[in-house]
Amino acid sequence: MSVESLRADIVEVGRRLYARAYTASNDGNISVRIAADRLLMTPKSVCKGFMTPDMMCVTDLNGKKIAGDRDPSSEALMHLEVYRQRPDVNAVVHAHPPIATGFAVAGIPLDRAVLAEVLTTLGSIPLAEYATPSTSELPEAIRKYIKAHDGMLLANHGALTVGTDLFSAYYKMETIEHFAHISLVARMLGRENLISREEVMRLQELRGTYGIKAPAPICADPVDDPTCQTVQAPQGDGQRLIPDVIARSAGRVPPSDDAEIRLTYRELSALIEDAIRSLK
Ligand SMILES: [Zn+2]
Repeated sequence: MSVESLRADIVEVGRRLYARAYTASNDGNISVRIAADRLLMTPKSVCKGFMTPDMMCVTDLNGKKIAGDRDPSSEALMHLEVYRQRPDVNAVVHAHPPIATGFAVAGIPLDRAVLAEVLTTLGSIPLAEYATPSTSELPEAIRKYIKAHDGMLLANHGALTVGTDLFSAYYKMETIEHFAHISLVARMLGRENLISREEVMRLQELRGTYGIKAPAPICADPVDDPTCQTVQAPQGDGQRLIPDVIARSAGRVPPSDDAEIRLTYRELSALIEDAIRSLK
């Protein structure tokens, strides 16, 4: 693919990110690998919805500007880290989609086994620790997850996706925001049925059948291992869908002995008063 058409593709992806409100003002950045040691990158301080092909910068893999009138993105360091860690990646997209970013602000990763298609494509979407934007803290924060994941949340900041080409990286950003939206609705409804671990393993086998390339396998058991993905999926005992603990604490499923209960201050005070009265 020619560099000219890649410039046009970055403009198009920028327009879509802005149109879907995944970025506001000058937020977000996009880059594409155009040669072993050359990147095409969005410039600093431009709205992604109003870019033109001539605005893009060419840099090397150390972030040094090779061509272009403008300076490279302020998040160039994060992009460079991805390309260094992942030779298979040819495009990086960073944006602040509001629902996924809400999860990132709440400190909640999107790692529950709830959507079959997300499990077969992205697997889990972890949450990288908070880092000051545009500093070398950000590449450090993503380092832990980028080897095994094509998409992640950035705590109190936004989301990052990568792909073998620009559109696949962009579509993963759409998938993350869509997944976050569905997760939010399910949690507001007070119930989330999780896909059992056995079913997760079956879905993972489908990756091969459909030729989906994931950077790392979903591990059979949750472990803190940077070479695999971890999803929250309960053991099924023959069941494929299992009501989550949220449903249990809402009283829709009989609670187990160690289940959490919630009382208002008034209810708790009344219980204590009752107890004191019965002691007298
Ligand atoms: Zn950002």
